Amino acid sequence: MRIALIAHDRKKEEMVQLATAYEAILQQHKLYATGTTGTRIMESTSLEITRFLSGPLGGDQQIGAMVARNEMDLIIFLRDPLTSQPHEPDIIALLRLCDVHRIPFATNMGTAEILLKALERGELAWRDIVHEEQN
Ligand code: PGA
Repeated sequence: MRIALIAHDRKKEEMVQLATAYEAILQQHKLYATGTTGTRIMESTSLEITRFLSGPLGGDQQIGAMVARNEMDLIIFLRDPLTSQPHEPDIIALLRLCDVHRIPFATNMGTAEILLKALERGELAWRDIVHEEQN
């Protein structure tokens, strides 16, 4: 599965904790992240992550481009609901695309853990069928 990890600045520490706790599961998948989030996770774990641009510079849109091609299977985007983000339109666009393509999307730690546990149990296997149909 292809998984994207994004965290706003005040949620980056939480993302590092999540990636550390679920490192064994995450390392079995292909990981992508926005620039700073990816760097922070790689500094604290041995996960290999393909890094896109930083969110405000277009990283969210780069991930969105993969979603538009139905190439992303799961997104964990730890959002900071209390601070306004300069790239808010990009975030809303990414959420919308995930709804279009029915991509599981967690915006907080509670949902993220549920999705990662489902991933571990193979409950996202239906995404493989989507990929097969595309080919
Ligand atoms: P960052 O971007 O990981 O480069 O900080 C995340 C975001 O704000 O969308």
